[in-house]
Amino acid sequence: MKQNAIIVGAGVAGLACAIRLQKQGYDVTIFEAADTPGGKIKSYQWQDFRFDTGPSLLTLPHLVDEIFELCGKNPRDYFQFIQLPLVTKYFYSDGKIVDSYSDPIKFANEAHQKLQVNPNIVTSFLNTQKKTYQLLAPIFLENPIHIFSRLLRIKNIPALIKISNPVLLFSMNFVNSYIFKNNYLVRIFNRYGTYNGSNPYKMPSLFNIISHLEHNQGAYLPSQGMFAIVDALHKIAIEIGVKFNFNSYVDSILVANNTAYGVQSNGQKHQANVVVSNMDINFSYKKLLSSQKAPKIHLNTPQSSSALIFHWAIQTTTPILDVHNILFADNYKEEFGYLFDKKLLYFDPTIYLYISSKCVSNDAPAGSENWFVMINVPHITDQNLQIDIIEARTCIIAKINRFLKINIEANIIHENITTPQSLQNTTHSYLGSLYGGSSNTIISAFLRHPNYSAIKKMYFCGGTVHPGGGIPLCLLSAKITSNLIEEKYNF
Ligand SMILES: Cc1cc2nc3c(=O)[nH]c(=O)nc-3n(C[C@H](O)[C@H](O)[C@H](O)COP(=O)(O)OP(=O)(O)OC[C@H]3O[C@@H](n4cnc5c(N)ncnc54)[C@H](O)[C@@H]3O)c2cc1C
Repeated sequence: MKQNAIIVGAGVAGLACAIRLQKQGYDVTIFEAADTPGGKIKSYQWQDFRFDTGPSLLTLPHLVDEIFELCGKNPRDYFQFIQLPLVTKYFYSDGKIVDSYSDPIKFANEAHQKLQVNPNIVTSFLNTQKKTYQLLAPIFLENPIHIFSRLLRIKNIPALIKISNPVLLFSMNFVNSYIFKNNYLVRIFNRYGTYNGSNPYKMPSLFNIISHLEHNQGAYLPSQGMFAIVDALHKIAIEIGVKFNFNSYVDSILVANNTAYGVQSNGQKHQANVVVSNMDINFSYKKLLSSQKAPKIHLNTPQSSSALIFHWAIQTTTPILDVHNILFADNYKEEFGYLFDKKLLYFDPTIYLYISSKCVSNDAPAGSENWFVMINVPHITDQNLQIDIIEARTCIIAKINRFLKINIEANIIHENITTPQSLQNTTHSYLGSLYGGSSNTIISAFLRHPNYSAIKKMYFCGGTVHPGGGIPLCLLSAKITSNLIEEKYNF
């Protein structure tokens, strides 16, 4: 008889894990609290304007393709994407504008022309990150690193030697400042710290490998916006027989004799041979496994940052902007001090502007644009339970007007706001954090909860467990989890 698996949550990792387990021979059912799949990857529609509400940048799209190939399908029949020639347009308060490209040589030339940085320094830095990534990713991102007997294999020795290099212990900012000696370029490279919600003035320089993904591998946008990834995964999941229960919040995971055997949702018990939680790891223990011993070492790590997002329907076009744009703070270090130490809103926040309609013409009517305006804010704490949205909005509008020399407020015809509280409420993300625990220490990778648990037949996948947040890592976590289940319960 077929074994069955229950997955709690239809985030990108839950969907990917469901597809993988179904292909492994399980009968898979997903219980999802919301009425649609996707979790943090959602779409919001107002009249003819469509907005991505969470992620806006896709890297390593082959990890999405891999899932369709596993099902014997051509990924291009399910979703298309384009590579962005210009990745991000960076704006500074003195009027300087720097364009960043996926082509390392083109980017190095831009850094030379606009910032007078020796282009060889940029290409050599990116080349180093490429080599480091290629050495470390197979061991630390594609494997369950908490199983030490696997980690300490002879073939992993070069990677283990690499991560014990003391330079990687220095902060990202320290290394970047030493190498580039240019405050404009240092801010560009420090910004990769925010890609997992961390503080570049504290997180180890090891995380400079994130820049390799964008500059050497490329930045991508699905042709129908980010939600197309979820749509495509949902479609293939249904085709291969995964069952979905929407509007089905799971209240608890059923455990007896230290073995998970099902879930309870909407007052009913559902039995399973294996249970995978795609819910935030903190809430998984606090809410679904409250009678079980929680592994404090994995749950007490400081959380990553959250976000305050404005979706604006704009009744004009802004030729000066591209798809991804950053309006930098002058004092980036002070901004991170507010985010991670004071845990307060910063008065001159770095602003991220994402306008998918620059590429996806259906996302806004002609002559208009769909703006996603985001600033990083601290995760929810007792001091900042109520963010002063009006104050933040005033700062943001004044800064946009000052940097771009426009009057944006007069062109906003519709607004929708996402706060840390709304993120926590809609996606069940602990303290509204975007990426689970932060990566501010060298041991943070080991402090993330593993994909397995001390409870038998209980597994975890998603951005809050190993190997971390962001779409590519979530897809890898689904792969690691399904592989672990296959190895343990192969039938
Ligand atoms: C504003 C923002 C910007 C981002 N930008 C990027 C980016 O540009 N690029 C990138 O790669 N990543 C980005 N990320 C991160 C990325 O979105 C996440 O890492 C990823 O989507 C998390 O997926 P997940 O599988 O962990 O689950 P989640 O998306 O967290 O979904 C979990 C799902 O489980 C459901 N659920 C939870 N508890 C229960 C329960 N008890 N019962 C039933 N269902 C439950 C929830 O409703 C939800 O649908 C961003 C995130 C945010 C919020």
